[in-house]
Amino acid sequence: MADVMVLGAGAAGLAVAARLKTHGVHSVVLERGPGVATSWRGRYDRLRLHTIRQLSGLPGFPIPRQYGRWVRRDDLVRYLESYAERFALDVRTGTTVERVKPGADGWSLQLGDGSEESARTLIVATGYLHTPVVPPWPGKESWTGALTHSASYRNAEPFRGQNVLVVGVGNSGAEIATDLAEGGAASVSLAIRTPPHIVRRETAGWPAQMNGLLLGGLPEKAFNTMAATMARLEVPDLRPYGIARPAEGLKTRLRTQRYVPLQDVGIVRDVLAGRVRPVAAVESFTATSVQLADGTTLQPDAIVAATGYGTGLRDLFDDPALFDETGVPLIHGGPPARPGLHFMGYDVTLGGMLRQAAIEARRVAKAVGTTR
Ligand SMILES: Cc1cc2nc3c(=O)[nH]c(=O)nc-3n(C[C@H](O)[C@H](O)[C@H](O)COP(=O)(O)OP(=O)(O)OC[C@H]3O[C@@H](n4cnc5c(N)ncnc54)[C@H](O)[C@@H]3O)c2cc1C
Repeated sequence: MADVMVLGAGAAGLAVAARLKTHGVHSVVLERGPGVATSWRGRYDRLRLHTIRQLSGLPGFPIPRQYGRWVRRDDLVRYLESYAERFALDVRTGTTVERVKPGADGWSLQLGDGSEESARTLIVATGYLHTPVVPPWPGKESWTGALTHSASYRNAEPFRGQNVLVVGVGNSGAEIATDLAEGGAASVSLAIRTPPHIVRRETAGWPAQMNGLLLGGLPEKAFNTMAATMARLEVPDLRPYGIARPAEGLKTRLRTQRYVPLQDVGIVRDVLAGRVRPVAAVESFTATSVQLADGTTLQPDAIVAATGYGTGLRDLFDDPALFDETGVPLIHGGPPARPGLHFMGYDVTLGGMLRQAAIEARRVAKAVGTTR
C-alpha cells in the first residue's frame, strides 16, 4: 500500500506532489496518458494561455521568462515536464484509474489493466475539464455530417473550404471560430445560446486577469456593474451583428454557473469583419440540417461543438453524496472530503485555474503533511 497517491499528472497533481515533498511526504502520481500534461498536449495548435506567465506558474519553480507573456501550449507542456523533473516526482504514466472505493485502510483503486492499488491518502486531480460533453440535441443521431467536440479540434486544416458551424461561445468556441476563419473555412457560423461577457485580454498592457484578481473581492452587485461598464468602454457594440449584451452580471454567472468571461483574441475583429457570423442557439438536427432557436435552418458541412466538459468523477466513485448536481466535489481545494480523500482543481476563479491549482496544492499538501 502506498502512503499517498495523486490521481492525474496535470498542473494540479504535479503541484501537490511537489509541495508534499517539502513536507517530507513522498507520493506516487498516477497518470493515464503517456506523459505529464496530457490535457495540454491534446489542445488546439494556436492555443496560448489566457492568463499571464507570472500568474500561471506552480509552487517552487515559476514558468521561465523565455516563454513570454502569453505562454504557448507546447511551452506549457515543456514547463510541466521540467517541473516534474526538477522535483523528481514519481509519476507512473500509462496508468488509468477506473474506479475508486473505500478500502480497509484508505482507498482502493481499480486500474485499467485489471490490477488494484491502494493508498492511505488519495488526492484526486483529474481535471475540472475532464470529459467532453455534447448536449443531447434531438435528432443528433440522424446527423450525417461531421461533428467534433472542441477537445478533439487541433487546427483548421481538415475544415478548409467547408461551411462550419461552431456551437458555443466560451473561450474555446470563440478561438476555434477565429482559427477556422483564418485557416480557410468557406464560412464560419457561431451558435450562441447565452450572450457572452467579453473582455479584452489586456488593455494598455494591463491583463484582464489582474482585474479579476484585484476587483474579484467586490460585492457581487458592484462587480457586475463595474464589469458591464468596462465591457461597454472596451468592446464594440456587437448587437447589430447578432451578439446581445449579457442579461446577467459577470460575478453572478461565475457564482451560479462557474462561468469565466470570454477573452477576446480575435473574435470581435472577426465578427465585425463578417468572417464569423453569430447565429441563434442550436435546437435540433435532421440528417443534413441544423434547426436554430430563431426558426432558421443551417446546412453546414461540419460542426465543432465547443459545449464544455464534465468532471467525470461520478464514474470514478460509487458515492454520489460526494458531488453536487454538476459532478463537482462538495468539498475540494484543501480539507478532506472523506478521511484520506482530497479533491483539487475544481474551483473556477477569475484569477485563472493554474494560479488556483498552485494555491490549492499548498493547502492540500499542508492538510496531508500535518496529519502524518
Ligand atoms: C482550451 C483551454 C484553455 C485554457 N487556458 C487556461 C489559461 O490560460 N489559464 C489557466 O489558468 N487555465 C486555463 N485552462 C484551464 C486548464 O484546464 C487548467 O489551467 C489546467 O489544465 C488544470 O490542471 P489540472 O491538473 O486540474 O487538470 P488537467 O490538466 O486536465 O490534468 C488532469 C490529469 O489527470 C489525468 N487523468 C484524468 N483522469 C484520469 C484517470 N482516471 N486515471 C489517471 N489519470 C487521469 C489526465 O490525463 C490529466 O493529465 C484552459 C483550459 C482549456 C480547455
